[in-house]
Amino acid sequence: MTQPDPALRPERLSEDNDRALRPERLEDFTGQAEARANLRVFIESARMRGEAMDHTLFHGPPGLGKTTLAQIMARELGVGFRMTSGPVLAKAGDLAAILTNLEPRDVLFIDEIHRLSPVVEEVLYPAMEDFALDLVIGEGPAARTVRIDLQPFTLVGATTRLGLLTTPLRDRFGIPTRLQFYTIEELNLIVGRGARLLGVAAEPEGTLEIARRARGTPRIAGRLLRRVVDFALVEGDGVITRELADSALTRLGVDDLGLDGADRRYILLLAENYGGGPVGVETIAAALSESRDAIEEVIEPFLLQQGLIQRTPRGRMLAPKAWRHIGIAPPRQPTQ
Ligand code: ADP
Repeated sequence: MTQPDPALRPERLSEDNDRALRPERLEDFTGQAEARANLRVFIESARMRGEAMDHTLFHGPPGLGKTTLAQIMARELGVGFRMTSGPVLAKAGDLAAILTNLEPRDVLFIDEIHRLSPVVEEVLYPAMEDFALDLVIGEGPAARTVRIDLQPFTLVGATTRLGLLTTPLRDRFGIPTRLQFYTIEELNLIVGRGARLLGVAAEPEGTLEIARRARGTPRIAGRLLRRVVDFALVEGDGVITRELADSALTRLGVDDLGLDGADRRYILLLAENYGGGPVGVETIAAALSESRDAIEEVIEPFLLQQGLIQRTPRGRMLAPKAWRHIGIAPPRQPTQ
């Protein structure tokens, strides 16, 4: 094995201590039917040709399975998996060191790829296109470029913000794949599988209650499941029932639609301070003391998908469903 590289972050794998729940093969991966069917074909074709699979970009909100799919790709292709992320790759040399250490056809996963610095991104272009590194040796008039060949590899990029990717980088991915929020049925299968893997008994209505309130997101489903298991063990008889899941989730601040405290503060801010909007995202971020990124990447995608808010050219507005959810009557004359 090569030296452990500080720019690689294997510890991220145990971030939410979820190795036990992470699907390992494509057939164990629930949901994302279209992406899964396409990936199956591309993986099979790469295997038949004995070539590196084409570079793949996963985009979508956090926790939907981008990292998991990248790991599954490597396993299905029968190649090594290396992982790093945009913000960790500070210098061109950091990326060059990783690239020169890849084995043939390895999968290199770069999380948060929209946060690569421009100099590092420059290194990536010839690497992706020609499997080559262009190194500049020397300075001033004596400087010259030396091209080093790399092993063919598959770059898998993940981003929560497709719009922040530069066009040249985006264009170099042969397989761009958008991940969608999961349906309640899909999340129910994921929670049921998780309960089995954790060795806890769960009634169907119990897993369904967790699935309904998981914000369309497997990572959240896994977290809620673990917390509900805690309550089931300590305060129940160890079985996940609907009543137990409901009371545990309510105590955790997860409401009936699966909204958490941050979601509700967002909705209440628009309702109580701005008559439902429109409000600019910067104003919302400042009022909630959240970063604009967190608002746009984490909070808003689910609220939009649920039809609770709308994006208009003049800002964000509450939709009728949000007013109903918080039980406040919208103003007669919305401040337009
Ligand atoms: P992302 O990289 O998109 O933020 P991850 O791949 O890290 O998301 O997934 C977050 C968590 O959700 C992991 O614990 C993973 O096990 C779980 N997960 C994601 N997608 C699925 C799925 N389709 N089926 C089961 N578990 C999943």
